[in-house]
Amino acid sequence: MPTFSAIIWFAVGLVLMRFIWKIGLGMLKSMTSTLPEPPPAGEMRRINVRYRCGVCGVEIRMVMAPDEDPPPPRHCLEDMDFVAPIE
Ligand SMILES: [Zn+2]
Repeated sequence: MPTFSAIIWFAVGLVLMRFIWKIGLGMLKSMTSTLPEPPPAGEMRRINVRYRCGVCGVEIRMVMAPDEDPPPPRHCLEDMDFVAPIE
């Protein structure tokens, strides 16, 4: 049977943990909010192309790029293969 003071300390511990968790989240938020903003959408082009990694076979879709013919992304240290624009 836990003593009354043990229960009180347990409650205090829980409150402290929540408090620390909130401070941690706040720090995380302030850190992410200082990241540079992406360029305005008007300067980016909407594209819809697919690339496949020739090494491991992973496939990705690119939907935004600074120009209409962006250099292929790299995966497994190799340039990915252009697959096809998606209609
Ligand atoms: Zn790969």
